[in-house]
Amino acid sequence: METTINKLDQATPVKVPGNVGMQYCENHPAPSTMPAKVPYPLAQGKREFISKHLSPLAIRGVMRIGEVLLPGEGEKFPAFKNTDFIKHIDRMLDFMEKQDLDGLKILLSFLGVMPNLMTLFILWLSEKDQSFPNLIGAPLRMISIGLKGMIFTLYYSNIEDTEGKGEKIHHNIGYDAKIVKKEQNLPKFPDALAPSVNQIPNLINPSQADVAHIFLRARQGEADVRGMSLSQRLTYIAALKKVILNRREEIIDIIQRDTKKARTDALVSEIFSILDHLDFLLKEAGKGLSDIKVKTPLALMGKKSRVFVQPMGTILVISPWNYPFYQAIVPITTSFVAGNATIYKPSEYTPLTGLVEQILDESGFNSHWVQVVYGDGKVGQNLIAAHPDKIFFTGSVATGQKIMAMASQQLIPVELELGGKDPMIVFEDANLERAVSGALWGAMTNTGQSCTAVERLYVHSSIFEKFRELLIFKARQLTQGQDLEGDSDMGLMTTEMQTAVVKKHVEEAKKLGARFGTGEDWDGVSGKIPPIILDNVTDKMAIWHEETFGPVLPMAPFDDEAEVIHLANDSEYGLSASVWSGDTERAIRVARELKTGNVSINNVMVTEGNHYLPFGGVKKSGIGRYKGVWGLHAFSNLKSVIIDANSPKIEANWYPYTKTKYQLFSKLVDGLYNSGPKALLGFVVNGLKLELYSNKVGKDFTKR
Ligand code: NAD
Repeated sequence: METTINKLDQATPVKVPGNVGMQYCENHPAPSTMPAKVPYPLAQGKREFISKHLSPLAIRGVMRIGEVLLPGEGEKFPAFKNTDFIKHIDRMLDFMEKQDLDGLKILLSFLGVMPNLMTLFILWLSEKDQSFPNLIGAPLRMISIGLKGMIFTLYYSNIEDTEGKGEKIHHNIGYDAKIVKKEQNLPKFPDALAPSVNQIPNLINPSQADVAHIFLRARQGEADVRGMSLSQRLTYIAALKKVILNRREEIIDIIQRDTKKARTDALVSEIFSILDHLDFLLKEAGKGLSDIKVKTPLALMGKKSRVFVQPMGTILVISPWNYPFYQAIVPITTSFVAGNATIYKPSEYTPLTGLVEQILDESGFNSHWVQVVYGDGKVGQNLIAAHPDKIFFTGSVATGQKIMAMASQQLIPVELELGGKDPMIVFEDANLERAVSGALWGAMTNTGQSCTAVERLYVHSSIFEKFRELLIFKARQLTQGQDLEGDSDMGLMTTEMQTAVVKKHVEEAKKLGARFGTGEDWDGVSGKIPPIILDNVTDKMAIWHEETFGPVLPMAPFDDEAEVIHLANDSEYGLSASVWSGDTERAIRVARELKTGNVSINNVMVTEGNHYLPFGGVKKSGIGRYKGVWGLHAFSNLKSVIIDANSPKIEANWYPYTKTKYQLFSKLVDGLYNSGPKALLGFVVNGLKLELYSNKVGKDFTKR
């Protein structure tokens, strides 16, 4: 059954699956044809109400219980009977299954003839449901939850605040109605901060109060997203794909404005990659998010084992400046498809202000489902302090360490996608022309500002000079600038801060004797850093072991396989690598030995181009994997479930423990873990004995 619930700040209702029962529904139109049953005087306007579902007696029952629960308190909280509650009841009951509705009608009619004191007693009794056996406790619980739910939904969805601003008063839920337990924990904010979910918080450098609002909205969004079926979520992904595809030129304009990257870099690495990722979600999310059946061992015979892949709640995504659109859309959509609300904080250097919200809005996303919050690291810290259910961070090692330290205080799970110092290994039998072009693109794409850029180039000594000459030749052909038509090979540096890091590394390398093939004439100030190729590098130079994150390619020769594996692994980082050889077996052998999260063979930076593969690093390059099915799981709670029959059987490992049980268990262990027919027979016989015995003593401890 499909039910409509209101999306708080949108006019169009959203369909959610399942029987949401008595959900209040602001956008659902009142039924147009109401068979006349009974007029009921409306409190304020003295109009009359006719219910399509309830008899006069049942309506009286609603009134009775309303009077008991909400007798009113001063002017601020009018009594239930003085409100227009009744005009909403049919809209609620429209959504009930016939069986439930029939039961409710009987119950309400019954309450309609009961004196108030009796109703009070039943409600009081319903709070004691735990003290009764389930046969009585369960109906009492239904009275408690169902009736109170109905009355309070009617009440809080109907009444406006006393100041006449038209605001609903559900945030005053702290009201202590009779019978209802005091909800001491509900108003979580001091009065001054008490937020309404509909109030739009300031999303640019939000104050602490705004952060509280942002999380309140996210928690609201969480319920919406979780309540949708996967195919409903995917309709938004399909819409988003269309919007990005159609508006890509405008999007690229904005990316270029903020990053100064080459237009083709923006098209290939941000738009194309995102469309590919969205396609992956559309095709594969069903597999990644379905329940997983796993085997159940013999010792747990008769049970079924499953893994439920479920949403985590609210995910905080914090992203860097180098691929701002990609680093926004990929984690946001993965988190959303997995059923979470998302709070996204872009880098303060490349915020793409308004772009992400706009395209999500155009694709039909509700603003509670994904919120974009702007600001620097301090804002990131405030968002972490508000306790998201997971932090998905992409950025530098230094910030990753700070985030993990902060998250550890609250035990928030973190995923860290950090920096790299990726090696490229070229053996003597590699295709020279292809390997040179691969090295050049791998080092210079996005002006070298890629986490998986080639930052160390190892070339076999027998081809080193030839390789170097061709590399320098090709590097000199590259064009550079902020192009509008996709005809520049390289863009400019995005931030002055990163330009300064490149300058420091290059100047130090020069001082310590590096040989420059190209780029020696760079002034150290301009963000238009030319491709810089250098060799004669040593371990003493930062350029050879720290992330430079600019268009710089240091290279060194090597002599044999074991040596180059050792050199490549001699790094604090372990993000990605590439191996180039005509001997695929050798390349695969080397790939297995590299301590990295990804390896491309006879290609460069290509593993992240396949959205079916997991992506992530080892060592200081990060923790966790995203993309592929692993990416969907990274945003999910993998819940283990065992389903057993509701039989009277008592499990062998439950109490009481007795000497006989111990001996039978011991024989069972022998039978289960030794091999051969004798062991198997022992397992069957002792298993049966143990089961019979455990059942007997488990039911009656005196038989132990
Ligand atoms: P950064 O660590 O300086 O900033 C990243 C984000 O963290 C920004 O949004 C920033 O505002 C925020 N931030 C800073 N301090 C914070 C704090 N204390 N608490 C919470 N948030 C805080 O990184 P950057 O300079 O923007 O990006 C470049 C780095 O990102 C490079 O090291 C690069 O290798 C890495 N990167 C890694 C990947 C990957 O997938 N592994 C991808 C792209 C970039």
